[in-house]
Amino acid sequence: MLPSDRRNLEKISLKLLSASRTSLSDEQDEDLNTAVLKLLQCSASSCLRYLYPPIKQCRSGHCLCLSCSELPRPICPQCSTPLIQARNVALEAIATKLLAACKYRSEGCPEAMPHGYSMLAHEMQCHFRLHSCFAGKCKWTGTVRNILEHMESHHRERVFLGSEKVFKIKKINNREDMDMMFLFSCEEGDFWVKFIYSKAETSFFGAVQYIGKADIAGKHRYRFEIKTSGDESESLYTFSRRTHADTTNFETIFNNHDCFWAPINIAKYFAENDVLSVKLNIDYIGN
Ligand SMILES: [Zn+2]
Ligand SMILES: [Zn+2]
Ligand SMILES: [Zn+2]
Ligand SMILES: [Zn+2]
Repeated sequence: MLPSDRRNLEKISLKLLSASRTSLSDEQDEDLNTAVLKLLQCSASSCLRYLYPPIKQCRSGHCLCLSCSELPRPICPQCSTPLIQARNVALEAIATKLLAACKYRSEGCPEAMPHGYSMLAHEMQCHFRLHSCFAGKCKWTGTVRNILEHMESHHRERVFLGSEKVFKIKKINNREDMDMMFLFSCEEGDFWVKFIYSKAETSFFGAVQYIGKADIAGKHRYRFEIKTSGDESESLYTFSRRTHADTTNFETIFNNHDCFWAPINIAKYFAENDVLSVKLNIDYIGN
């Protein structure tokens, strides 16, 4: 760390953020937080880590992260002077008061955690994380709030506004592989619906993912239904379940059969004029 950096650090450390905060809501605080974090980079030029207790230093005052200070030769990778035993407690105190922002900060996420903790669990579920478009070769990625707009402008035929739809599947007696994916958008939110026929497994599979936070996915239920029409001895074949989180991919869901699953014999039994009608509903059910 250069002497001018150290002076800066001393100046801004007076305004340090409180460790109890978990969001970076104020722009000035955020700039300050980022500036201090930058100053707290390990002195070893090949190391990109931020300093976090225990912070060791060399005789010339270069501060090192734990792994750089534990190299077999106890000398400073920056200036080759020996490392000293004393830790830099002032920097350690500063380091524990800094916050590290979620990597989707620029998309609008205000979440942050004390520097040194992993944000990974949050980032995997972050409401502002980037989603890919499933349609063929489309390279689009964007946040959940832009999915509907993208789908409507580029893949209108895959968008369904509402929470109920009857799929009409033809050629049941000679069914080839099928792969249909839709975006269902209703008051409760946006959902990916995937419906396939696998010739290898001679079965239809259908599942619904809620696009957004996993705990909200558990508050919705999807229900697939096929039935014979009309007469009094109506037969019904249904499957219902809470919607899947969009962090669980469809392949895993289908492989585990944790979804609507109808073998071809069932489909043939319910088909009329070689067409199978499968009704899908998505409801909000709360906790
Ligand atoms: Zn280091
Ligand atoms: Zn040094
Ligand atoms: Zn986030
Ligand atoms: Zn697309």
